[in-house]
Amino acid sequence: MTRMAEPPDPLGRLIEEFRRLPGVGAKTAERLAYHVLRSPEAEALALAVAIRDVKERIGHCPVCFHLSDGGICAICRAPDRDRATVLVVEQPKDVIAFERLGTYRGLYHVLQGRVAPIDGMGPEDLTIEALRRRVAAGGVREVILGTNPDLEGDGTALHVRRALAPLGVTVTRIARGIPRGSAIEFASNVILGDALEGRQALADAERD
Ligand SMILES: [Zn+2]
Repeated sequence: MTRMAEPPDPLGRLIEEFRRLPGVGAKTAERLAYHVLRSPEAEALALAVAIRDVKERIGHCPVCFHLSDGGICAICRAPDRDRATVLVVEQPKDVIAFERLGTYRGLYHVLQGRVAPIDGMGPEDLTIEALRRRVAAGGVREVILGTNPDLEGDGTALHVRRALAPLGVTVTRIARGIPRGSAIEFASNVILGDALEGRQALADAERD
């Protein structure tokens, strides 16, 4: 039997690409691909161009790894931010969540992920070494560990703590105000604000 039922190659490839997107299953991928196929050419190509532009024009801040146009980001550049405090988060979405509070005046460090052995993500895949160098360069008095309050977030925080331990900088962890297992990006401002406000210094014994 021939594979007559299989869509021709470019369509099959588009379905495969859509399937890679988070939360998109086989059926949705197929529906999206056929939608693109039926769309006017200009509309379909606008999607392709938007995807290309986001990859070409948006880069990472070389200091904190938050999204930027490739240069130093607006937060790192702002003259009124407290440069002695660095809040370490997993992803740019978490920076946006903390910024929504409007109360945090320090800087950030985006790890660009979390330690997740099951997904093949180790500590060396994150920006931990860049953070260590940033703190070692001086001027930072407190590093707040703002990774998610779940198993992988806690594990990631531990790796960061270990990397910073020899530097003698104060390391704090956001409070457990956020229900365990829920994500920073979805936490309400009140809960997130309380978690940041109630951060606790980690005992020396825990830091080595
Ligand atoms: Zn930055």
